[in-house]
Amino acid sequence: MGQETSVSRFTDIEIKVLSILRENSRASVSEIAERLGVSRVTVYRALKSLVNKGVRFTVDIPEDSPRAFVVSRESHADLGECFKLVDGRYMVIVRARDFNELVNIIDRLRDKEEVYIALRPVSKQLISVGLVCDYCGGPITVPIIYRRGRRTYYLCCETCLRELKKKLRKSNKNKVNAS
Ligand SMILES: [Zn+2]
Repeated sequence: MGQETSVSRFTDIEIKVLSILRENSRASVSEIAERLGVSRVTVYRALKSLVNKGVRFTVDIPEDSPRAFVVSRESHADLGECFKLVDGRYMVIVRARDFNELVNIIDRLRDKEEVYIALRPVSKQLISVGLVCDYCGGPITVPIIYRRGRRTYYLCCETCLRELKKKLRKSNKNKVNAS
């Protein structure tokens, strides 16, 4: 949050929203609206206005939270990571803590043209699996590295190494026979 902004610049509702967020930075827009007895739109407006006044929120969103890829005519860099597309439109990656919040945010975008809702990131999980054995496909704790020609193979155990060598020898023979 911006420390140099003086409190007097904020409206009543903005100060109330801020104090709830100070208590609980994970409070959803619906929760804040309910606690203050105002509409969600009012809370959104207050949040947007706070951002315009220089307040920076550290958004605490888990990695596997729902997200949407929204293509629109206008840039929406305030909502998330925003890209300019080659066709002149923009794509913003909107993230939220739950589907309700995600749908609420998307609903407010009047100029949206395409919306893709993602369930979860896939590539990240694949990377976290780490090295995979080139023979059996299983995970590797300590890799056995085997270089053959220009290729490097990673194996999980001696058995896989032996079997891989056998397989390579066979396929080499086949290649020789075929040519
Ligand atoms: Zn293996």
